[in-house]
Amino acid sequence: MLRRLILVGSIFAAPLSFLGESSLSITTPLGTRVEFAAAAFMPGEIVTIRLAPGGRERRVSVHWSGETVTLGPPGSGFEPFGLEGIDLGQKPGPVPISVAVLCADGTTEVARGTAEVLARAFPEKRLKVDGRYVTPPAELRERLQWEAELLRTVYGIASPRWLAEGPFGLPHEGEMALNFGERRVYNNASPSIHAGVDIAAPLGSPVRASNSGRVVLARYLYFSGRTVVIDHGLGLFTTYGHFSALKVARGDRVKKGDVIGLAGSTGRSTGPHLHWSARVRESRVDPRALLDLMPDAVSPRVPERSSSKPS
Ligand SMILES: [Zn+2]
Repeated sequence: MLRRLILVGSIFAAPLSFLGESSLSITTPLGTRVEFAAAAFMPGEIVTIRLAPGGRERRVSVHWSGETVTLGPPGSGFEPFGLEGIDLGQKPGPVPISVAVLCADGTTEVARGTAEVLARAFPEKRLKVDGRYVTPPAELRERLQWEAELLRTVYGIASPRWLAEGPFGLPHEGEMALNFGERRVYNNASPSIHAGVDIAAPLGSPVRASNSGRVVLARYLYFSGRTVVIDHGLGLFTTYGHFSALKVARGDRVKKGDVIGLAGSTGRSTGPHLHWSARVRESRVDPRALLDLMPDAVSPRVPERSSSKPS
């Protein structure tokens, strides 16, 4: 895989520098530095964004492809790091980035840069499933709209603090199919995109939380069957589907490794397995990218202070 990052021009002549093959930094004229790192700038990857220690900033807003991530030094009410996802449907090409700094003394400044998202090819597969999962019966339309709206709401509310602890782990020891982003043609009908990975998991085997967080959804959904969504904070969610039984309820706090459900084949499924997916806000990312999250971006944070929300 090509793991390369290209930077092109910047307004305000902010110095841009390479930190490595898959990272870049933007430095403002007064010296605030924000670093961006990913395994590669490609669809499905997770970008960690870090504010380099300096001490002159009160708050830093990073705009990446229309989304805003707010960072702050310890004690500011914001984390000094944040996350962006590169959606699996993102077209290759330049992504504009800007960094707006509010300094402790009230001065403000802005610097801009660009990241170049590279193309990524995804596999294609033909599958046969029960016809009602390809063309859902008309009487289900309202339910499916409601479920889609529910998921949009769940993924739309991001905890402003990081809830995960240390590195992410696999939710099940079964063999993982590398089928993230697979273009699937069910029963020769119109294709759909597989936004997660499938892990071979025998019926009734325990599935564990990939990291600590809060359960924001635990219920039956038409396509993913019995499903759990965990909010890890800063816009990052992991989702687990097709359970035969749920072991958590909405609102529960879970620790990394806690059993959240038993594997099954509920919903649109061809046999017992775990469907594991991840999101950073709107972006569907490869859950395997969680396994390489930079350790310094998942290190223990300073004790929580004010609960002011990012603007
Ligand atoms: Zn799946």
